[in-house]
Amino acid sequence: MSQSSLLIAGETPETGKRAQILVPYPLSRAYDYLLPHDMSVQPGDYVRVPLGRRDTPGVVWTLDGKDNVDPAKLKNIQQKYAFDPMPQVHRQFLEWVARYTMSDLGAVLKMSLSVPEALQPPKTAIAYTLAGKLPEKLPAARRRIVELLKDGVPRRAADIAREAGCGAAMIRGMAAAGLLETRAASSPAPCRDVNVDETSLSFSKDQQAAAGALRKLAAASQFSAVLLDGVTGSGKTEVYFEAVAEAIRHGKQVLILLPEISLSAQFLERFERRFGVAPALWHSEVPAAQRRAAWTGVAEGKTKVVVGARSALFLPYADLGLIVVDEEHDASYKQEEGVMYHARDMAIVRARLGGFSVILVSATPSLETMVNVQQGKYHYLSLPSRHAGATMPDVHVINLKLAAPGRGQFISPPLQEALKQTFAAGEQSILFLNRRGYAPLTLCRTCGYRFQCPSCSAWLVEHKRFSRLQCHHCGFAQGVPRNCPSCNDEDSFAACGPGVERIQEEVSALLPEARTFILASDVITSPNMIRAAVRDIEDRKHDVIIGTQIIAKGHHFPALTLVGVVDADLGLSGGDLRAGERTFQLLHQVAGRAGRGELKGRVYLQTYMPEQNVIKALAKNNRDEFLAVEAREREKAGMPPFGRLAALIISGADEIKLDQFCRALAQKAPRYDDIRVLGPAPAPMAYLRGRHRRRFLIKAGKSIAVQKYLVEWLSPVKVPSALQLKVDIDPQSFF
Ligand code: ADP
Ligand code: ZN
Repeated sequence: MSQSSLLIAGETPETGKRAQILVPYPLSRAYDYLLPHDMSVQPGDYVRVPLGRRDTPGVVWTLDGKDNVDPAKLKNIQQKYAFDPMPQVHRQFLEWVARYTMSDLGAVLKMSLSVPEALQPPKTAIAYTLAGKLPEKLPAARRRIVELLKDGVPRRAADIAREAGCGAAMIRGMAAAGLLETRAASSPAPCRDVNVDETSLSFSKDQQAAAGALRKLAAASQFSAVLLDGVTGSGKTEVYFEAVAEAIRHGKQVLILLPEISLSAQFLERFERRFGVAPALWHSEVPAAQRRAAWTGVAEGKTKVVVGARSALFLPYADLGLIVVDEEHDASYKQEEGVMYHARDMAIVRARLGGFSVILVSATPSLETMVNVQQGKYHYLSLPSRHAGATMPDVHVINLKLAAPGRGQFISPPLQEALKQTFAAGEQSILFLNRRGYAPLTLCRTCGYRFQCPSCSAWLVEHKRFSRLQCHHCGFAQGVPRNCPSCNDEDSFAACGPGVERIQEEVSALLPEARTFILASDVITSPNMIRAAVRDIEDRKHDVIIGTQIIAKGHHFPALTLVGVVDADLGLSGGDLRAGERTFQLLHQVAGRAGRGELKGRVYLQTYMPEQNVIKALAKNNRDEFLAVEAREREKAGMPPFGRLAALIISGADEIKLDQFCRALAQKAPRYDDIRVLGPAPAPMAYLRGRHRRRFLIKAGKSIAVQKYLVEWLSPVKVPSALQLKVDIDPQSFF
């Protein structure tokens, strides 16, 4: 019997209804699939479709598109998941991001479909939670398990074993002994019952005014952007929490973006204190079971608040109604690989599409944001003073040309003196140096040989702690040889310049009694270690903390009264457009660690360039003047935020082929009055992970759509498969 004879009279032969399905792979658009006759779908539905030899989850993108593919070649949608469709506004957002960043739409979808297993009905695996009563004394391994499960999140045995560092047998043993209870492993949606009562704090007048204005914006269902500007410790967080509460009262979901989220244990404690519940966390270190619960909770609208890193912006919120971008100036909001997007800028886009408010928060706002405020595009709220009258620290500039450190030393006499005084007074100090390891360069005293990375244009950094020379760009590492690889001289190596390890050595020689501690990302590697380190500092177990930029973030240490910046000039060299701005922000933030409690703080900046704009602005604590000067210079140069930039980064292992391609590419660049193409030029990191790198910089007027220009230029170009071409719209880094 032929297929058509089965049809009921009047029905056209099944030419097949089609749907366009977007899959989370680097494809520029959705492709046609056939809809089985017993399935109906709507845009946004999650489905499973065959792709190549396997199946993949995907999203129904459109139902009326045309692909002109022979129906015989089309494949069927395999399954529709029992899940609410991805909201239309979210799909619009993904399209917007793909267009703006010139990325494949499928690659953008991948950021949203980050937990594909969440679409499956939960497997009935067994999870463990704490039983009611626990004995006072437990062996260490069992205690670790108890500590881990105290947060109430049920975990599978494998997750517990990994996180607590124990065997699965011990978990079963504890369950058998009645210390743990079992249940089905699907975790409930996190952060559902949020306490949105009025804050119990009594706000100052400024705080009240700001909170009132923010509440109003959070309650309105229309787009607005607002900058909440205030020195560290002025209560910005407490104030924007009021807007968060208001949005939840209106039944909305809220996203709080934080840079390097995993670092701020203190933030989470405060969140819980205010809202009586932990937020849903979203960052790379969140364990799989919790990710799944968060993704599902967000998509179903049960989870009210997500606190996350930039990728949290791509969760498919059922009903998002407020975004807070804390530390809006932070460079880590820019994703530098894959889809190269700026989370702050995309948060504004998301709020505009969704018709709600976005709150940008900073003590050192970016120039972009300040200009938007001045042009009246953003609202502006400020908290001018520290809470409870804590004063800003005094900033002293140490001119290293006049007060030079001793031979082979890096701490100048005035800073040494301040360290001694602070230690004698029983207070804490931070020495800030944004350089891991012992020394940034090791060379042979006899022949001048320098240790260089074999795959990058970078020196190897000596790490005494690991007894190794390491590349900070690709992870290459080698032992320190006895003899020079070039002249074979023995023990002839000299360390050039300081890293945090070397500063620790110097402090220990200066203050042998002081307890010193290094806080750097290669030593403190997990959120738990950071939490422990922060607690130890709060408990005053360390006297002098030597740290890289991870100490700059939001921590609050009441006994910390001295901040010494070992090399204030470090970030100012190099051709980065925002070098001055970034250095100002970073050093201002580090300085803000001093004297946040009742004790007055002092800050010492060691510099060879006391006349430099950034240093002068820090010394005078005059941020606005600094920004004004910076703005004038950028405007004169037609640089962002007064003009537009885009970058092309082209890389390949074969340098000759790379240069040939780049020259040909340069010739094809269309010419327009308002657009300048600079390059090709070797990138500052001209050799990285075994690939040579060239850059083009496209500079255009503010009103120009650079994307359109790039499409015109690049779409006829075929990039040889041995080369890679990446487009970076609004580049933030120029390496
Ligand atoms: P910021 O975010 O501007 O750095 P925070 O919101 O972190 O400032 O506030 C700094 C400290 O002061 C926090 O410990 C906070 O709980 C406290 N604080 C701020 N405002 C008040 C207030 N009105 N009453 C009591 N404590 C406050
Ligand atoms: Zn390297």
